Amino acid sequence: MKVMKFGGSSLADSERIKQTVQIISDVEEPVSIILSAMKGVTNLLIDAAEKAEEGNEEYKQNITTIKETHLKCISELFGENIPDVLLSGIDKKLSELKDILHGVELVQECSLKTKDIVMSFGERLNCYQFTFYMNYLKKPASYIDARTFIKTDSNYGKGSVNFQKSYKLINEKIESIGNTIGIITGFISSDSDNRTTTLGRNGSDYTASLIGAALDADVVEIWTDVDGVLTADPRIVENAFVIPQLSIQEAMELSYFGAEVIHPYTLIPTIDKKIPVYIKNTLNPTAKGTLITDKSSEKDRIITGLASIDNVSLINIEGGGMVGMPGIASLIFNSLAEADVNIIMITQASSEHSISILCRTEEVALAKQKLKKNLDLAIQSRKIQNIEVVDDLVIIAVIGEKMIGQIGLTGDLFSTVGKANLNIFAIAQGSSERNISFVIHKDDKNLALNEIHKRFIG
Ligand code: ASP
Repeated sequence: MKVMKFGGSSLADSERIKQTVQIISDVEEPVSIILSAMKGVTNLLIDAAEKAEEGNEEYKQNITTIKETHLKCISELFGENIPDVLLSGIDKKLSELKDILHGVELVQECSLKTKDIVMSFGERLNCYQFTFYMNYLKKPASYIDARTFIKTDSNYGKGSVNFQKSYKLINEKIESIGNTIGIITGFISSDSDNRTTTLGRNGSDYTASLIGAALDADVVEIWTDVDGVLTADPRIVENAFVIPQLSIQEAMELSYFGAEVIHPYTLIPTIDKKIPVYIKNTLNPTAKGTLITDKSSEKDRIITGLASIDNVSLINIEGGGMVGMPGIASLIFNSLAEADVNIIMITQASSEHSISILCRTEEVALAKQKLKKNLDLAIQSRKIQNIEVVDDLVIIAVIGEKMIGQIGLTGDLFSTVGKANLNIFAIAQGSSERNISFVIHKDDKNLALNEIHKRFIG
């Protein structure tokens, strides 16, 4: 069994859909197909929900655009032979969407729960039309709504998957469709009360790996619009190139650090079952892509790739009274958890005089407010002297399995950054030694990435 996932860019219009169908048709073994929404549709749905919540009637225009996008595609795919049931099915889904958004407009409130229902229409509409097209081409296919088998908790917007329950249901469902090809909605799921949930943005990759693991697939293929995982962002580093093979740990480090090729959770289900994951390009199907396996990488260079996270801010909590004071870190972390602020990176020098935390700039005001409130006693008693925020920063992550135990690498890395005359605000290295991350000003990002790439990757 092969599991193939195609993202929005592989399904942007009728031409891309035809290419995707061709790729599927070339496969000889049994396949399960996972699809995202057509390109841009999820964003239009989110925007519609937000407009409706503000009472802004322009959300109706978004529905019209979504309708036109699908109908144009359908008419180009089927010509004169559009099945009536396909059109009525699309119409039914769109009028349900319209009703939901009208409800949002009336109450001017859109909870995460409602947003998940709204977002679910992108994948549902796309898989529906795609299944009809496959059947029209005499490639027997069955439409499958993943809400029937990917079960999560009720954490709307980012459901946590119940693996055991989902795996059992996935197997039952795939068995029930016999020899037809399952065309499965990515990204969407449901909770124990069968309410719609989602797996987080770009969650379709995760859907694919869950299905691959449940079915003990031989391989999971993630089809996208790039040739594979690159050594760095090619918009910044001209010489960036595709990495033919990555270990799971390297791929995870890269995806957590903003190499936007796969959803960071994608490899969790496939690790246990040792299922290889391929990243492939729909626009260039013969390109080898990147293979991610449990084997160590065969590269001869020490650094595998570079990634970066933009729009981060540093919160520096400083004070002589913090030295030797147990509980201060816990107080800081609990405060940020209470404020629902995600910590991306932490540093504390052994002098214990300050703790620095990196979070997204959009969350920093809330973080600071909460810290000031919860640390008030320590501030009053001058144990903490300062909570300072520095904006306009980026985190650069240098990743590679061969970095483990490499004496002198850190010195070499930072002297490269130093020679480029760049100031470093904070540094962190996890004890896995596969990742060294450091923080610089956003204006220095391009130079840093290029210099490091030139020196270590070539
Ligand atoms: N359509 C969803 C998104 O744009 C999920 C996905 O494509 O994976 O985030």
